[in-house]
Amino acid sequence: MPPPDPAPTGCEYHRRPPLRFFAYSWGQLSAPLATTQFAAISHLNALGFQTNPLTVRCDGPQEMLAHYRAIEAQRATLGYDIDGVVYKVDDLALQARLGFRSSTPRWAIAHKFPAQLAWTRLEAIDIQVGRTGALSPVARLSPVTVGGVVVSNATLHNEDYIAGRGAKGNPIRGGKDIRIGDWVQVYRAGDVIPKVADVDLSKRPASAEPYRFPRPAPECASPAHREEGDAIRRCTGGLICPAQAVERLKHFVSAQRLRHRRPGCKQIELFFHDSDLPVKTPADIFTLAARDAANPLRQLKNRDGFGDTSVTKLFAAIEAKRQIPLDRLIFALGIRHAGEAAAGLLARHYGTWTAFESAMTNAEPGTPEWQELTAIDGVGDILATSLAQAFANPAERAAIDALITHLTVEPVAAATLTAPSRARRSSSPAPEKMTRAGQGPRRGHGRQGRRQRQRENRSSDRRSRCGFQGERGRKTGHPHH
Ligand SMILES: [Zn+2]
Repeated sequence: MPPPDPAPTGCEYHRRPPLRFFAYSWGQLSAPLATTQFAAISHLNALGFQTNPLTVRCDGPQEMLAHYRAIEAQRATLGYDIDGVVYKVDDLALQARLGFRSSTPRWAIAHKFPAQLAWTRLEAIDIQVGRTGALSPVARLSPVTVGGVVVSNATLHNEDYIAGRGAKGNPIRGGKDIRIGDWVQVYRAGDVIPKVADVDLSKRPASAEPYRFPRPAPECASPAHREEGDAIRRCTGGLICPAQAVERLKHFVSAQRLRHRRPGCKQIELFFHDSDLPVKTPADIFTLAARDAANPLRQLKNRDGFGDTSVTKLFAAIEAKRQIPLDRLIFALGIRHAGEAAAGLLARHYGTWTAFESAMTNAEPGTPEWQELTAIDGVGDILATSLAQAFANPAERAAIDALITHLTVEPVAAATLTAPSRARRSSSPAPEKMTRAGQGPRRGHGRQGRRQRQRENRSSDRRSRCGFQGERGRKTGHPHH
């Protein structure tokens, strides 16, 4: 389970906590682990699996309730979110006799904690701009303690959500909209990013007005457009939008897996605005060392926060990334809808950068290249259109071409490519959970056809995706008993 990250103010790309789990169950076994649940967990622990130290054997309802209350008291300090405890019949033979209902066991029951709620004032609504231009509203709150954690931000998902409308136009919160100055009820579910549960209309200031999404977009003042059927309004600035450009750089660096010594989000923003060594596009990353060497009077190593060793390591890490597999490159380009799984499909189909680039350049509806592209299992019109537009847009194309001159792209063979990493997706709660007010839990199951494209759509812009995910919530863990 991911460690809690209650302050949605940082950068999603650099917060991928390692996933850990508590073993509490098992699948097929050649020999039974034990004759009781408790002994089986102990056995798993002895085998080296981490098991939950809060698991205890209770004798009767009084002990179970006492333990429930003890865990509830520790809830805020556990280091991971839980929504309750699970009681299980200890004797595995009895478990087998009790069996299952259609999907749930008769020998286990969840005892949930009450929701963690608090009322506070909504001070402001900030708009964050994502990599593909998605505008994500974030509630700035008067700090309030919710379940032991101080909360000062909450996700507001999108303008419909603020207006009190759900994904299908259905009323949410009884149709109450959210206004700056409102007294709002905040809750933390399993998600890291708190949400707004309710609005107290009786405390609404007389001066409060319905919230209007900014048009034009913040930062670059380009028109903010909302497509039919899309809950998300987007900045149309593309590469001229500094907010999008920075997010794309972060995506590129993250997708490149510059895991060690990679520039962090703060550094990326610093370089983006730097007058001596500006990094505006991914290509600029690869000229950083040469540009630094050409300016001996103002070298990076002499700046605060850098130093000889860290600069050497940073440049070495960048150097090592000049070689990049085709699938990773396609993903790193950050083209909308072209997520990690789609990048893998495309790389396996085209094999080389030359073939891919040529196909994308010529892919227009009606051409053989378009037919070939849309015939790939898992590639639909939305992704195909997005790819074709990226390669046809002069500014985007120039940025891609400039980047390629610095790279050696490794071909991908259809047979040898490993499956696109789903581990990264199913990791971090949203966890990966959002900009931070834009991040949500990652998830991902199934790979083919429509579902996959839907997922790609969601993952193509983490902030927007998170926005949608908020309402679905995330399953949280229970210490198992
Ligand atoms: Zn913009």
